[in-house]
Amino acid sequence: MSKLIITAALTGGFHGRDANPNLPEQPDEIAQAAYDCWQAGAAIVHLHARDKSGKVTCDPQIYAEIVAKVRARCDVITQVSTGGGPGLTPEERSKAIEVDADMASLNMGTMVRTRWGEGSIGLNTRSQIESYAKAMLDKSIKPEMEVYSHSMIVDVNNLIEKNLVKEPYYIDFVLGMTNQGALPGEPKHLLSLIEYLPEGAIFNVSGVGPAQLPLTTLAMLLGGHSRVGLEDNIYYTKGILAKSNAQLVERTARIARELGREPASPGEARQILQLGAYGAR
Ligand code: ZN
Repeated sequence: MSKLIITAALTGGFHGRDANPNLPEQPDEIAQAAYDCWQAGAAIVHLHARDKSGKVTCDPQIYAEIVAKVRARCDVITQVSTGGGPGLTPEERSKAIEVDADMASLNMGTMVRTRWGEGSIGLNTRSQIESYAKAMLDKSIKPEMEVYSHSMIVDVNNLIEKNLVKEPYYIDFVLGMTNQGALPGEPKHLLSLIEYLPEGAIFNVSGVGPAQLPLTTLAMLLGGHSRVGLEDNIYYTKGILAKSNAQLVERTARIARELGREPASPGEARQILQLGAYGAR
């Protein structure tokens, strides 16, 4: 099996330091966390921006500062979030694509939040998804297509049919969100989703909360890739907060090696994903 691409989701758009005081929020903290995760074996960092008060934003200036600070420290692949978080409009979220990151996340459908703004809608209509994908294509930013349920595969296929995404199609199965419209973090759902992978696709797995460790380990066995980090899971084990994002990456790299999936370096991940070289941007 190929090497394992480990993504570290460092911050997220939901909880703050009240949930885990080790959550990096400001650009310098995020850049340091990215460096630590890179040293621990991460090839990609998935980034969210926060304003000075810690509130989620897709301000391209803050994103650009984070990306520049990460790149100054190491060659890890940068992936900005266009999902942002509660309270951001689709237009505000699209600003993340203005930044010259290597990749950007792309939510493949609409969900209704049950926490952090309960009842608010994470709106991702088909035409919005297409316009995000087009903007990424025009800038050679690789989309990380986030799929939370089977119905979102329909929208992945729509982008493929319309030539709005390039091979290898990179799909992140995100399981365990409490949102309406998202599947629970159970192995049977991951096994089922894989059946619907389009030809030419590579998959990554994000498990939220207690699903992070089992589902990202299952992904290794199934030939997929793994995303861990404090965005998805603030605990190291039940009741014990993680000390850092790097602590979660270290465990993932250790398990991967035991299972014969050596972690991919950023350079190797760039080849697998067919991204441009480090320094090309
Ligand atoms: Zn995210």
